[in-house]
Amino acid sequence: MRALALHADVIVFISDFWQTTCVAVRAGDEGFVIDSPVFPSELEALPGVLEQAAFPVSGLLVTHADWDHLLGRLAFPGASLGCGETTARRLAAEPGAAQRELREFDEEHYVDGRRPLSLGAVQSLPVPGKLSLGPEHELELHPADGHTADGTAFVVPWLGVLVCGDYLSPVEIPWISEDGALGAYRATLARLRPLVDQASTVVPGHGGALTRDQAPQVLEEDAAYLDALAANGADAELPPGRRTRAQRKIHAENAARVAESGPLGRL
Ligand SMILES: [Zn+2]
Repeated sequence: MRALALHADVIVFISDFWQTTCVAVRAGDEGFVIDSPVFPSELEALPGVLEQAAFPVSGLLVTHADWDHLLGRLAFPGASLGCGETTARRLAAEPGAAQRELREFDEEHYVDGRRPLSLGAVQSLPVPGKLSLGPEHELELHPADGHTADGTAFVVPWLGVLVCGDYLSPVEIPWISEDGALGAYRATLARLRPLVDQASTVVPGHGGALTRDQAPQVLEEDAAYLDALAANGADAELPPGRRTRAQRKIHAENAARVAESGPLGRL
């Protein structure tokens, strides 16, 4: 796992698996941890690293309900877990799904020694909305669905940081997963555009943080890819720099999804 101090009050952790990101942000004597790394050793290291850096953990937040982002409770079992209302609904609608997928991942990759994941009570947060941190600051919550049926982007306005979940990744093409939709994904990119323009750093759900120069470029590449996907399906060109075998597999899934549900996705 890599750890990177973006700012005196923001640390980004990047997991060795899928480059899944986890962001710690503090204000005064309060702090949030958004999303999680994947491996047990990474989750075990997290509390010590944050304690050493004097980052308090008052609560956990997640961008969406995919299992690889939901593991914060394994590092901070007592912490409250908050998420946007779409994610709370999805978690309630598919109880045990994250645990099952985590178990399958661990079996497939011979990952040993993980405690069972207990999500327990989840606090549903209104989106769009605001969430206070410390005596004088507020995070902004914006809807970010399309990759999945749920999703929330978090803006840390006083530090110029956007934590957007599984969008704007420098390592992964836009992925319309089983309950995602192309139309919703494009609407989220349009909604993220002004937030990206205001941000000095964007932290995607997978891959390293993007600078003010890089983020708009990834956004335009992703929008162009989705336009091509809507128009040409499987023949669409992948974004430059993300044309690996793994990304072509995601692209094939996207093309099949769009062919079966139409360019707007399920209505
Ligand atoms: Zn993800």
